[in-house]
Amino acid sequence: MTGVQRERANILGSLVDMVDQRQSMERIAAFVREGGSHHIITLNAEIVYQAQEDEALRAIINRADLVTPDGIGVVWGGRRLGYEFRERVTGIDLVHLICEEAATAGWRIYFLGAAPGIAERAAAELCRQYPGLQSAGAHDGYFTAAELPDLLGQIAALKPDILLAALGAPKQEFFIAQHRHALNIPVCIGVGGSFDVIAGEKKRAPDWMIKCNIEWLYRLLDEPQRWRRQLALPRFMLSVMRQKRHS
Ligand code: UDP
Repeated sequence: MTGVQRERANILGSLVDMVDQRQSMERIAAFVREGGSHHIITLNAEIVYQAQEDEALRAIINRADLVTPDGIGVVWGGRRLGYEFRERVTGIDLVHLICEEAATAGWRIYFLGAAPGIAERAAAELCRQYPGLQSAGAHDGYFTAAELPDLLGQIAALKPDILLAALGAPKQEFFIAQHRHALNIPVCIGVGGSFDVIAGEKKRAPDWMIKCNIEWLYRLLDEPQRWRRQLALPRFMLSVMRQKRHS
């Protein structure tokens, strides 16, 4: 991106921009003005941990145009390594901030992902919350490889300013990296399970848990089958302590 010097933290080989929510939104607005194609990742500890062993994933992260500190693990790990992250910048927070700005700036948003019907419901809910917001279209995230070329063509023809891809991490990151140039959308961002929450299918943790940085605990209690995935968090913390010892 032109004009902005990126200050990035190196956490276990993944580079994370030292940005808060306001700075993230300033960069997103600049990407929309600039046009072309930009990839934004909201990065959590689970994906950083996975990227240590997965070179392709690490390359996608390190080539992205903006990588925000999504989870408390990344914020904690960054601070431990001497990088002062001010706050978490999560996918769902960015969805709301983007929609708020889009409603006045006239950005058109395409909603891709989640089970059939959910993306449309999330789009309708966001249009209700942010009057003036324009949805460019919506599609579920369970398309086949045979359906993909048509779907990509349809999305590109609609020329949205922003693609919200809610396919889960890291599937959405691979999807965007692979198709961003065919899509040619100024801002492509992976937003995980956000559509499920916005459409009211799933609940986000209560505010007090978010403030106490234990949103991960809520998700674990809500979806106990996530425990295996969440083992990445203590492993990530141990790896960060090891990186600190060797730095
Ligand atoms: N999903 C999808 N296509 C797939 C796999 C998953 O659209 O092939 C959706 C799924 O329906 C859910 C989201 O991706 O809405 C993943 O949610 P999760 O909370 O697991 O994602 P995370 O925030 O942990 O990345």
